[in-house]
Amino acid sequence: MPSNASGRSDKNDAPPLPEPLRVPVADSHTHLDMQAGTVAEGLAKAASVGVTTVVQVGCDLAGSRWATETAAAHDAVHATVALHPNEAPRIVHGDPGREPGGDAALDEALAEIDRLAALPQVKGVGETGLDHFRTGPEGKEAQERSFRAHIEIAKRHGKTLVIHDRDAHADVLRVLKEEGAPERTVFHCYSGDAEMAGICASAGYYMSFAGNVTFKNAQNLRDALAVAPRELILVETDAPFLTPAPYRGRPNAPYLIPVTVRAMAAVRGVDEDTLATALAVNTARAFGY
Ligand SMILES: [Zn+2]
Ligand SMILES: [Zn+2]
Repeated sequence: MPSNASGRSDKNDAPPLPEPLRVPVADSHTHLDMQAGTVAEGLAKAASVGVTTVVQVGCDLAGSRWATETAAAHDAVHATVALHPNEAPRIVHGDPGREPGGDAALDEALAEIDRLAALPQVKGVGETGLDHFRTGPEGKEAQERSFRAHIEIAKRHGKTLVIHDRDAHADVLRVLKEEGAPERTVFHCYSGDAEMAGICASAGYYMSFAGNVTFKNAQNLRDALAVAPRELILVETDAPFLTPAPYRGRPNAPYLIPVTVRAMAAVRGVDEDTLATALAVNTARAFGY
């Protein structure tokens, strides 16, 4: 129904419900705490189109605690906990309205992530990694130290590592190699090309594709998706961000996963059910649930 007087639907409106998937899948990476409506509403809407499981990702201490509480309260939700790669430098160096805490504050925050990572509803440690797009040179050291600490926490607790890699492919791969990657490692919002997909495949890293795989200018992502081994592919929303075409720019939520799954099936040249079956199995294996 038109939502404004001019009769046009508003470009800020939530996109319509897609056709349900016949084979249920998981949204491997979402931020329910940044989306409109209640968690119960968001989960019900997602389940109504076959998105029956979500991985709720923490980005700071408050968000990580929230993820653990939400996963404890809802069977359909699994949690991951971390300090986002852009959060670690803010803890050390401060931010507008926030005092710099130095290395000690980062250590304290990491100790809390470590405690949360032990909880049974926490399936992963992340999102962590490197972001050379948002964090400048002054934050690089804190960011890499935090990344290394998260890798160690994931390994010690036997949890999945969830990687955020923005404009930092070579450095992320280098740190993983130096530290030794955990048994299960996921590149969330996979942003590498086909060549990097080959490197991830040989290391056994999962590649989770988000709505930007549908964007016109993202042929490199589709090329990567086309060559990635079927058993290492996941799908995610990273909602409220990265809403798939043709709804780009409007609010994203887990119920829009079918739009991305269909675009991915077209890239892979397989039918939707075949891909959805693989995605469901892969996500469960990747997060050990
Ligand atoms: Zn991210
Ligand atoms: Zn995210």
